[in-house]
Amino acid sequence: MTSALVTLRDRTEILVDGAWRRPVGGGVTEVEDPATGTVVGTSADAGPEDVDAAVAAARRAFAGWSVTPLEQRLHVLRGWLDRLEARHDLLVDTIVSEVGAPVALARDAHVGMALDVLRAYLDEARAVHWQERIGSSLVFREAAGVAACITPWNWPLYQVLAKIGGALVAGSTVVLKPAELTPLSAYLLADAALEAGLPDGVLNLVPGSGRVVGEAMVTHPDVDVVSFTGSTGVGVRISQLAAPDVKRVCLELGGKSASIVLPDADLDRAVPASVQGAMLNSGQTCSAWSRLLVPHSLVPEVLERAAAEAGRMTVGDPRRDDTELGPVASATQRATVTGFVERAVAAGARVVAGGVDQPRDGGYFVAPTVVTDVGRDAEIVREEVFGPVVTVQGYIDEVEAVALANDSSYGLHGAVWSGDQERALAVARRLRTGQVDLNGAAFNPAAPFGGYGRSGNGRELGRYGIEEFLETKSVQL
Ligand code: NAD
Repeated sequence: MTSALVTLRDRTEILVDGAWRRPVGGGVTEVEDPATGTVVGTSADAGPEDVDAAVAAARRAFAGWSVTPLEQRLHVLRGWLDRLEARHDLLVDTIVSEVGAPVALARDAHVGMALDVLRAYLDEARAVHWQERIGSSLVFREAAGVAACITPWNWPLYQVLAKIGGALVAGSTVVLKPAELTPLSAYLLADAALEAGLPDGVLNLVPGSGRVVGEAMVTHPDVDVVSFTGSTGVGVRISQLAAPDVKRVCLELGGKSASIVLPDADLDRAVPASVQGAMLNSGQTCSAWSRLLVPHSLVPEVLERAAAEAGRMTVGDPRRDDTELGPVASATQRATVTGFVERAVAAGARVVAGGVDQPRDGGYFVAPTVVTDVGRDAEIVREEVFGPVVTVQGYIDEVEAVALANDSSYGLHGAVWSGDQERALAVARRLRTGQVDLNGAAFNPAAPFGGYGRSGNGRELGRYGIEEFLETKSVQL
């Protein structure tokens, strides 16, 4: 670690109205590296008075930013993207430190995918129907106002850009609260925005706790849109808190997604890819395929292959190029994950790979774990574990596979594997979920991402993500 990096991670201020300043209502908090348990930086810990100032700045800035011609807004935001690209290595290093993500994953997914998402917002801006004629009416899409954006720790850069990219293209202004565990990458985003000449107050950054800063944002009377990514329980509370003002609330919540392997699937691809999809980012991914569904007759073979894949994965120091799995985010998260596995075993489940023994000393590591002999009502099948754990269940036929996949209060993602693409597509159409990947198809940063049921009610990315931050006005002629 160079001394320059230490300084860059030694943040204590909030961004309000285009200027960095000490929080009035709060203090400073430490940021931990989950791979070592050591402190790697600091962040401001703001208070309600800081939220008031940030919302007031965003409201003032809205008057100008919302009526700035789209091309001009895009020009400024392209400059922001350029400056983020120039900070690529620093962003990667910061993500490795605050998330514990392996460096290759941090580079390709945490940073690479996040910048792809911003790029796609800029490309898709013109696809929005900013104005259209419907009979005797002109229908306008206009910026919704001040957006309170609250994000989780698992994919911090991506989650922030998935929100504020759409909001800023839309002409809305933003008050951002990143997760307590991972605020450092948000500082870098704000640095780049200032450097790019984003007008004062268009983006305000108030790191702090959910209970204090988050709730002050959600209940603030001058906030128009609340965009939240995080756990379903907090999403429910935020909806309730925002209801008295009839604020628009866009929720991106948890998941318990299924990967369905059909009998004609290529197991050489389907099983390793499904296990990787469950373990990605140490399983701390809302869209993780944490339930693997396979024909009963294939269960023994799939278990063998899944265990081999989990056992092959390199777990450990995230700063090594060949590491595939880093730690989970915190000691608390580790205890949560291992608790799920322990209770499943106590209830009769069988662990065929991994388990609760961590592979390394120090840091919050969990071995990639494959669990079977679980019923459809087992806790580990129904609840989001948010760690590197996949369950394997058998099904009788396609009808039962779809029924099992849909037997969840969540509906965020899913996968279907088949030698017949049409068959896979037909199954995908029957899944009650916001995204489905067929045969390992790649992530599309311009396609809408969001959930059914308790996975949320919003859509992020591309045109749909911009529209979350727009109002609609009809003018009759
Ligand atoms: P969390 O709900 O605990 O926290 C998320 C954010 O909300 C944090 O910034 C936190 O400070 C804030 N917060 C907490 N309590 C609050 C309150 N009362 N009022 C306002 N804000 C509050 O979630 P987490 O543990 O950080 O993240 C993990 C969860 O996020 C998982 O359930 C995961 O599935 C979900 N997630 C969903 C998506 C998606 O797109 N659907 C993406 C990533 C993560």
